[in-house]
Amino acid sequence: MNDKYEAVIGLEVHAQLLTESKAFCGCSTKFGNAPNSNVCPICLGHPGVLPVLNKKVIEYTIKMGLATNCTINQRSTFARKNYFYPDLPKGYQISQYEEPICGKGHITVNLSDSTEKRIGITRIHMEEDAGKLIHDQGFETLVDVNRCGVPLMEIVSEPDMRSAEEAYQYLSKIKQLVQYLEICDGNMEEGSLRCDANVSVRLKGAKEFGIKREIKNMNSFRNVERAINFEIERQIEIIEDGGTITQQTLLWDADLNEAFPMRSKEEAHDYKYFPEPDLLPVIVDEKWKTEIERYLPELPENRKNRMSVTYKLPKYDAELLTQSKPIADYYEKVISVTDDYKTASNWVMTDILKVLNEGKIDIKDFPVAAEDLGELINLISDGTISGKIAKEIFPVMVVEKKKASVIVKEKNLLQISDAGEIEKIVNQTLEKSTSEVEMYLDGKEKVFGFFVGQIMKQTQGKANPKLVNELLREKLEALKNKITK
Ligand code: ADP
Ligand code: ZN
Ligand code: MG
Repeated sequence: MNDKYEAVIGLEVHAQLLTESKAFCGCSTKFGNAPNSNVCPICLGHPGVLPVLNKKVIEYTIKMGLATNCTINQRSTFARKNYFYPDLPKGYQISQYEEPICGKGHITVNLSDSTEKRIGITRIHMEEDAGKLIHDQGFETLVDVNRCGVPLMEIVSEPDMRSAEEAYQYLSKIKQLVQYLEICDGNMEEGSLRCDANVSVRLKGAKEFGIKREIKNMNSFRNVERAINFEIERQIEIIEDGGTITQQTLLWDADLNEAFPMRSKEEAHDYKYFPEPDLLPVIVDEKWKTEIERYLPELPENRKNRMSVTYKLPKYDAELLTQSKPIADYYEKVISVTDDYKTASNWVMTDILKVLNEGKIDIKDFPVAAEDLGELINLISDGTISGKIAKEIFPVMVVEKKKASVIVKEKNLLQISDAGEIEKIVNQTLEKSTSEVEMYLDGKEKVFGFFVGQIMKQTQGKANPKLVNELLREKLEALKNKITK
């Protein structure tokens, strides 16, 4: 980025709440049901019906507010956000405008240069979702209104972020929190977490913000980062060319790596908010708030500290393992069968996260059960197999979905820990390698590794490395003493 300029970024994040029924009716929120089957007169906005608020919507939003240091408003009210669009049979969305459930708060994010940054949250309010238009089925356009009335929570940030990285970290933190709170699955690819990015640039040191543009339609974390960087560069270019930025809504095109202005017809949502006459204000008294606070699940920061202390893990390990709740859960399942905490951590951090990242797999779809990884680790620590063999077995576990103990038997991979047997192999190796033995006796002790390598090769990696080292050392020292005497 041209370093005359500074970017200013604020995010509006919509999180689909994991309630079983919709926000104002009893319809199911289940994903994947037949189109237009999760509907009733209320979510379709037929005349004469009345919405009834789902208490869970408020409870979940308060949870998020508490986890992000927000003030919880004692009183909040609903508003109608009116616009006409085919995905909205009611002609309005029930939302909140002047009095949201949560007021100001903040979260702290870690950046790659090891600094921390606090990012302000302006408000968190609830909103109901609209339906979905389907354009790619060979018909003109299809409408599925199953999603109408599904509860969303909108988290609006202050314009506190100064780079795409900060925005990325902020969004990751939001995802981490909703997953820990179990109020949203946090899946951006499937649209249960959506993010609109507001971006402007200004000369470094300027007091006023520049004119912002809003980018929508980024359905992955990487796309959010890319879209923001794209927009920052473009705005700087426009200003450098003597132009001015006009307020606009843009749609990110992930295939072309570019953001395009929305068609003006789509952008022309001239929202008219007015108070929702069919719903009473929500009153959150102290008692309800403390109740929710008391049953708040363990949050990432606490879990990190607890795991680091209880399992004597380095801070780095604890941080990485708790980044995602399902990973932390997996780790704690592994160590429910083995006491080798640090070895377990190494396996999860490297071997498992590597496979997950490479294959873009979710831990819940990972083929090796946590308990089976625990068993593998136990096989190493009780000497049944060597660490080297374990590294060979693991990919087989992933592909063939078999337990380690089964693979060990099938492939005859038992570690050779019989001292007599190893001694025999050591002797053979030394006899075969007369010139290397000479070198060793001449003081070139580096050839020690050569002997180990030969023995491992001959035993296909199955010799117990500790025993090999001990016996080799013994034999070679004995030879040395024979000469010097
Ligand atoms: P609007 O009324 O256009 O929706 P808001 O004031 O509600 O604007 O802000 C929407 C989002 O845009 C917030 O996340 C806010 O932090 C961010 N924002 C506001 N002004 C700017 C700006 N000049 N540059 C970047 N982001 C901004
Ligand atoms: Zn309904
Ligand atoms: Mg706004």
